[in-house]
Amino acid sequence: MKEQPAVVFDLGKVLVDFDYRISAAKIARQSRFTPAQVRELLDHSPLLFRLETGLLTGEQFYGEVCAECGFSGNLADFCGTFADIFSEIKPMTAMQATLRANKVPTYIFSNTNSIAMRHIRAKFPFCANFDGSVLSFEQGAMKPDPKIYAVVERMAGRSGQDIVYLDDRAENVAAGLARGWRTLLHQTPEQSIAALRQWGLPVDLSP
Ligand SMILES: [Mg+2]
Repeated sequence: MKEQPAVVFDLGKVLVDFDYRISAAKIARQSRFTPAQVRELLDHSPLLFRLETGLLTGEQFYGEVCAECGFSGNLADFCGTFADIFSEIKPMTAMQATLRANKVPTYIFSNTNSIAMRHIRAKFPFCANFDGSVLSFEQGAMKPDPKIYAVVERMAGRSGQDIVYLDDRAENVAAGLARGWRTLLHQTPEQSIAALRQWGLPVDLSP
């Protein structure tokens, strides 16, 4: 029998939804910034990039945020608030569980940070049920940098068409496609599950 491909999942907007407006509003209340200014400081910002490539520790990031906006809470308050922005996308985590039950190797591949991952791992048990995770802050590189895609290939022991990759960001998908991976720009769970089914992956529980 042919070896199963590995299925590689982006985390944000694929397995968990997130909304930085939630944390921005709470942090703003204890700072001199408006919620919109806090969001600009945190969401897809140069500061977040440094955290998510491992150039800053969580504590250093907290220090920078305090210096910028005058946040007056302590580190634990900050981490709790900063990370409490996620909700599970259940049709996708259920599909991943079905793949796993059918012995398909699955991986998390995410631009993320230590504060968010600690929170996500504690809140969402599905996170423990992967064959591995390639996380930007641990690798010192972010998608779509080819370096971090090479880490996925090494970890999965697969390359080219033997990697199926779902991500909601076009530039990340394009970098996978450039390596010959089978890629899917994730938009809705229904579309992604149907696409994997068409590729012959076992996404449906057998009766
Ligand atoms: Mg994403």
